[in-house]
Amino acid sequence: MEMLNTHVVIAGGGPAGMIAGLLLARAGIDVIVLEKHKDFLRDFRGDTIHPSTLELMVELGLIARFLARPHTEVREITVEVGKEVFPVGDFTHLPTQCKFMALMPQWDFLDFISKEARKLPNFLLMMEAEATDLLAKRGRIAGLIAKTPEGLYEIRSRLVIGADGRHSTIRAKSNLKSKEIGAPFDVLWLRLPFVQGDPVEPVARFQGGDFFIMLYRGDYWQCAFVIPKGAFNMMKAEGLTGFRARLRTVAGFARERVETIQSFDDVRLLTVKVDRLTRWARRGLICIGDAAHAMSPVGGVGVNLAIQDAVATANILAPVLLKHTPRLSDLNKVQKRRQWPTEITQWFQVQAQKRVLTPNMRARQTPKPPWILYALRRWPWLRRWPARFVGVGARPEHVEIR
Ligand SMILES: Cc1cc2nc3c(=O)[nH]c(=O)nc-3n(C[C@H](O)[C@H](O)[C@H](O)COP(=O)(O)OP(=O)(O)OC[C@H]3O[C@@H](n4cnc5c(N)ncnc54)[C@H](O)[C@@H]3O)c2cc1C
Repeated sequence: MEMLNTHVVIAGGGPAGMIAGLLLARAGIDVIVLEKHKDFLRDFRGDTIHPSTLELMVELGLIARFLARPHTEVREITVEVGKEVFPVGDFTHLPTQCKFMALMPQWDFLDFISKEARKLPNFLLMMEAEATDLLAKRGRIAGLIAKTPEGLYEIRSRLVIGADGRHSTIRAKSNLKSKEIGAPFDVLWLRLPFVQGDPVEPVARFQGGDFFIMLYRGDYWQCAFVIPKGAFNMMKAEGLTGFRARLRTVAGFARERVETIQSFDDVRLLTVKVDRLTRWARRGLICIGDAAHAMSPVGGVGVNLAIQDAVATANILAPVLLKHTPRLSDLNKVQKRRQWPTEITQWFQVQAQKRVLTPNMRARQTPKPPWILYALRRWPWLRRWPARFVGVGARPEHVEIR
């Protein structure tokens, strides 16, 4: 087994892991980030780069290079309920320099962050490296084991950061306890062709008890079809014709394009879960992002929360790591700072699940638009609040170590 020594080893090269790696390495700390896949090119990643993340790019002096990459700028969010269209969020009044949400495939975002981080001599990204176990020494976590195509690595560190997402191995191995909150639905992830003349803004559509989201990705639409938990097997049993008919009712202007779905291999099932750890840390280890609190896709805010956790982790722990191994009390400060934003965001997601998604999916009917949608349509200034919740979130973090 190969041995490596570092200050911090991070399991997971998603938004939380890559941003934590970049910020800690900039602060002068030796960091190894492990990503189990061989590239970032996976379909099932949220494409939303929130205004708060763009602000982070401003603070790091990276914004010009970042925005030079192909992206779409969204200044307003709308929701379609049946035949009615409601503007619900207005980003143009946010207290950030970029007053828009950028839509960029997440692999481009992660590729950008990895290229910036690799410029730092003390940053190492190991692709195709899967964290499989933790190393313990005298009652504290002292590193981890990574599996790579070349063999096993034993990586010893002052701190392990679990940023390996909602099916976290690090969380499972750490024995940290979680509180299950649950989500009554799953998401089917599929592509429909883009046709010249289509709008490019994201679409969120409620129709006949179904909920459908379309994200513009240059030459195609990335679509999320929200289904009751466990319903995919029933849909597969109904056959492709029945499935296409369901899609046709919610696909709006793209309804004729559902014929491009040739088999169920073109459709990916993403299981949704909502939970959070009661304690995010034990000696030598901390979990952040979805590994600490799996987020529902509702509101498209999970990436933002994961990145904000990473910023808080670097702000709080970098000065300590430069001097010595962090104590449990240092690690607990990260949870203390990020727990409240996590709880409030999950509370909103669960309310939307309970009050909007579940009853309408059960009743199989287009919901009657609630009064709040009419209020948002009538008074434009009200739309600043949902935009702030989605775009910046509760307790935004700022880079303290440049
Ligand atoms: C269907 C669906 C749609 C969503 N859409 C959005 C959206 O549009 N906008 C939004 O903001 N949020 C969205 N979310 C939530 C969002 O995806 C998560 O909250 C966010 O990705 C969390 O980031 P993370 O870095 O903590 O974890 P992840 O993004 O899950 O990244 C974890 C990384 O760790 C790697 N990994 C896993 N295990 C190991 C291991 N053992 N060793 C090494 N590497 C490992 C994975 O390959 C991955 O790259 C969605 C969630 C779902 C389920």
